[in-house]
Amino acid sequence: MSGPPQLDTALVAALADFAAHDRVLVATDFDGVLAPLVVDPMDSRPVEGGMPALASLADLPGTTVALVSGRALDPLRELSGAALDGPLVLIGSHGAEDSRAEGGLALDDDQQALLSTLDDELGTLREEHPGLRVEDKPAGRVVHTRGLPEDEAQAALDAARELGARHTSLEVTPGKGVVELAAAHVGKGVALVALADEVGAEAVFYAGDDLTDEHGFEALADDADADRAARRLTVHVGDGETQARFRVADEQAMVALLQALLDARRAATAR
Ligand SMILES: [Mg+2]
Repeated sequence: MSGPPQLDTALVAALADFAAHDRVLVATDFDGVLAPLVVDPMDSRPVEGGMPALASLADLPGTTVALVSGRALDPLRELSGAALDGPLVLIGSHGAEDSRAEGGLALDDDQQALLSTLDDELGTLREEHPGLRVEDKPAGRVVHTRGLPEDEAQAALDAARELGARHTSLEVTPGKGVVELAAAHVGKGVALVALADEVGAEAVFYAGDDLTDEHGFEALADDADADRAARRLTVHVGDGETQARFRVADEQAMVALLQALLDARRAATAR
């Protein structure tokens, strides 16, 4: 009989320490952490148990819960199932969008012009690499190559990166099978620390699987609040090098982790 994935004992101890603080921020990436990566990004679905555990955490005292994603806010809300007026904070477009802000984000005329030039150039790129997907985001475009043959995907990613590099005001962010080209960019690290400051968190949990999440792990390690930096609980999902303190294998293990965190936080806040 296979039970839920077993968590590392050091991680379980760290979760208990984290849960004991009065005010905590529990933040996590969505794709590759709560939902398996899929060929079409709009086919993404959260694994069972992850979102309910986050919602239960958000109901506990002194506990702010946030999804921090590269996705635009609307698809993030739709795919995660997080309620519009629910307790979860949704941060989209790598920090450029916040579910609590009114009207989303504003681009200036130069940024709007840059996006329309980018659309023309990406149209040409798509003719050269059929099967390439381009996702529209409020402040940028994301080129997806998942599902393409490997050498074709690499050539398309390289071309997208070069295209992005020609526009110096674009922020070019490579990921797994994606390149994001953003006219306005905040970054997950900046967004995480700003949210932690805003809610007065004494400790921050963050889990992610991709290169952009490494910026989050680094920013939390370099937090100007040195006590909070020392208390950070960062978790990388999957293989590969990481700055995170802990690692879990996959989305199922992440659900087990969130359940353990919920149990620890319930025990700590009941005292
Ligand atoms: Mg991810």
